[in-house]
Amino acid sequence: MNHQENCIFCQIVRGTIPAHRVHEDEETLVFMDIFPVADGHTLIIPRAHRENIFEITADEIGAIGRVSRRIGLAIRQAFAPEGLMVFQLNGAAAGQTVFHYHMHFMPRREGEPLALHTRVAGDPARLAENARRIAAALETVE
Ligand SMILES: [Zn+2]
Repeated sequence: MNHQENCIFCQIVRGTIPAHRVHEDEETLVFMDIFPVADGHTLIIPRAHRENIFEITADEIGAIGRVSRRIGLAIRQAFAPEGLMVFQLNGAAAGQTVFHYHMHFMPRREGEPLALHTRVAGDPARLAENARRIAAALETVE
């Protein structure tokens, strides 16, 4: 599989950097954003290193799409957010900060100011608990 030595998400895929994992399959990995903007802020990535939408394959996007529907349902069940923002950034000018394709799932509340990133790391125990909640909900959605 195509990995890049210095890519933080490739290191998470390989397990050399820990992450609060929610779900994984042959093509995708789902884990908690270490800098969560909201409780339940989750990322889906392809296991292979693809920088952006211009590099990822149709099959990989298909796999991410299939998982994304279930992750959305699981987050809704686990956190009951008023809204769920799903987005994916391509290029620094678009706000991309890690150059390995990733899709964000960001629970939203009415009237909450919009932020895409934060520099404040999440509490590890809380991230672990949130990963468990989403993983448990995922078992109940088809
Ligand atoms: Zn990578």
